[in-house]
Amino acid sequence: MILYDERLVSREEANIDIEDRAYQFGDGVYEMIRVYHGRPFYMDEHLARLERSATEIRLSLPYPITRLKQLLLDLIQQNHLEEGNVYIQVSRGTAPRYHGFPEQARPLVIAYTQHAKRPLAELNHGIKAVTTEDIRWLRCDIKSLNLLGAVLAKQTAIDHGAKEAILVRDGIVTEGSSTNIFIIKDGTLHTHPANHLILNGITRQVVFKLADECEIPISETTFSKEALESADEVFLSSTTMEICPIVEIDGRPVGQGVPGPVTKQLQEAFVNEIKRTTLA
Ligand code: PLP
Repeated sequence: MILYDERLVSREEANIDIEDRAYQFGDGVYEMIRVYHGRPFYMDEHLARLERSATEIRLSLPYPITRLKQLLLDLIQQNHLEEGNVYIQVSRGTAPRYHGFPEQARPLVIAYTQHAKRPLAELNHGIKAVTTEDIRWLRCDIKSLNLLGAVLAKQTAIDHGAKEAILVRDGIVTEGSSTNIFIIKDGTLHTHPANHLILNGITRQVVFKLADECEIPISETTFSKEALESADEVFLSSTTMEICPIVEIDGRPVGQGVPGPVTKQLQEAFVNEIKRTTLA
């Protein structure tokens, strides 16, 4: 089943118009929520961010977020989703093609589930990344459907045999194409501040909480590409990749070229957080 507007229907029953504004303009917002043990992880935080993204692009959700939450819980249950993802998208709706907001259109919510195991190989061994110029717009804090900058960056990574592209704007590391980036130097965690140049990842916020609990100091200040290159450890965070070590950047090893101790400590804390929140 999928969620289509306010109903759970089969995928075949969903009907997306060729003039849906998500399709024509990328005019909408989205979320991705992870499910462990049949239960959503940090769902309220994701839904609050969805509401914020919608507000920032002046889109009113067609029904309350509490109703959406119930529908998503029903969807997870009906699809017997034990381990996987829920993708949620809200389009501004369907109207004759014209850039300005339509007066009549009802925003369209869709959501569907994907079965997906935790990426254990990547989590255990780390991944390769490349750096690339951050050419995205200046409202990266909105989880908008306009993802061309991210798509092009990710493909650059893939073309170089890497898994993620680390974005650099004016010499400063902002984030990954679909992840937040952290470096560790002399025991302190550094990550870009949550402003208009990055998405304030939900996993990023979980990392802050866990680092606090592990008494690992965090500095939420910008750092340069050179600092990235000389970091002791680097990792990324995201809903689907969790806390994942980056062991090679632009063909050069990070530290010893294997996942470092601080990253591993946070990964262990993350697994405990999954258990705490979804097995209770
Ligand atoms: N930054 C960008 C640009 C993203 O697209 C994402 C996730 O899709 C993230 C960071 C990580 O956010 P979260 O931890 O909420 O998945």
